[in-house]
Amino acid sequence: MRLVLLGPPGAGKGTQARVLETRLRAPQIASGDLLRAAVRNKTALGLEAKTYMDKGALVPDELVLKLIGERLGQSDAKSGFLLDGFPRSVQQAETLADMLEARKERLDKVIALILPDEEVVKRISGRRTCRNCGAMYHVIYDPPLNMGICNTCQGELYQRDDDAEDTVKMRLEVYADSTRPLLDYYETQGILAKIDGIGRPEEIEKRILTALGVKGAAEVPEA
Ligand code: AMP
Repeated sequence: MRLVLLGPPGAGKGTQARVLETRLRAPQIASGDLLRAAVRNKTALGLEAKTYMDKGALVPDELVLKLIGERLGQSDAKSGFLLDGFPRSVQQAETLADMLEARKERLDKVIALILPDEEVVKRISGRRTCRNCGAMYHVIYDPPLNMGICNTCQGELYQRDDDAEDTVKMRLEVYADSTRPLLDYYETQGILAKIDGIGRPEEIEKRILTALGVKGAAEVPEA
């Protein structure tokens, strides 16, 4: 299955993508993770991208497209993928459609997680990310067993620079201006599923699987 997960920062795209990866046997491809890896590795692309990321602005298309193009070309993405954080503008969506068309492929569905801005700010300001495996926690809603340490790999938990409150506000503006128009774009194509993003991760997973018509979605427990 070829999917895109859309939604404002902190909507739970990453959390859902990680779960769906196993369920749908398709790799999560997160543009933010690819960019952060480039920053960590201090590549020329990463150093350039960092200046935009620190402000909460969009990284120029040519940098993001290079990373996404390379990643989509890897063998595990041949028969399906879950794009998380890409595309973020109509222009990126058009480029993606061209890239897929060249492979005689197209998107099956676009899942848009819908939630209000206040909820986004609340979620992101308490978010902590594992430096090692990328797992995410929330200091109040989903705390790790030991503060500052990842439950899964014992890696160090940190607050992303761009998760600070001011930067989050900027990221929300960018979402409203550049990314939200994608909802209409994909709705017109008849492949958009809008999902209520409020609730426990398992409930949201169930809503997504139902929208995708995946068998066994009803077996995911409710609250
Ligand atoms: P994310 O982890 O998806 O919240 O992305 C973190 C940051 O990486 C964003 O605030 C942008 O600066 C940059 N970024 C991620 N994906 C894209 C994209 N598709 N286009 C442009 N910039 C991006």
